[in-house]
Amino acid sequence: MKQPREKHTVFIGAGSNIGDRTGNLQQALDMLDEFPQTSIGKISRVYHSEPFGSVEQEWFFNAVFQLYTAHSPQTLFSYCQQIERRMGRPAEHMRWGPRIIDLDILLYDDATHDLETLTIPHPEISNRKFVLLPLLDIDNPLHPVIGKTMSELLEACPDNSTIEPYSHMLLKHRGSRR
Ligand code: ADP
Ligand code: MG
Repeated sequence: MKQPREKHTVFIGAGSNIGDRTGNLQQALDMLDEFPQTSIGKISRVYHSEPFGSVEQEWFFNAVFQLYTAHSPQTLFSYCQQIERRMGRPAEHMRWGPRIIDLDILLYDDATHDLETLTIPHPEISNRKFVLLPLLDIDNPLHPVIGKTMSELLEACPDNSTIEPYSHMLLKHRGSRR
């Protein structure tokens, strides 16, 4: 349950297309749950999605997690990068290439940040069905820059790649301190 100081609501987009892909999503969720002053809210369904870009690679599993946190966007971002490293994603990697785990901060309240390494809202939200569909399982917030809801963005989304809900369920508090 959300604690009083965990006052920020964040949506994290997670994706994996190497190894035990749904296991990797679960492991990343468990590690986010272990982060102090952070708790997990709602979890989307898992989606099976066609990779895009020119690189030949395995299909992805994608999900979105809602978090409540007391941390700043930058602190949360560093922790997400730590999870990526600890799970074995190399610091140097190919854009659009295969990945054990990818964790993106999609929304942080209705904040906007445009820093060199961190842009919030994530700049690709409106272009990616594998972000919009799972996010809509949880909530339909307004995009603070574009001024449209996620369902309006989905209607206008140019992404025509294949994506379908998958039967695997991610579990909350599986490896947690609680
Ligand atoms: P992508 O997630 O777009 O497929 P990468 O995971 O390789 O690509 O991320 C590339 C860079 O995007 C990261 O090194 C990070 O600095 C930057 N970035 C900018 N905004 C965000 C955000 N909101 N969440 C995560 N990464 C971000
Ligand atoms: Mg990323």
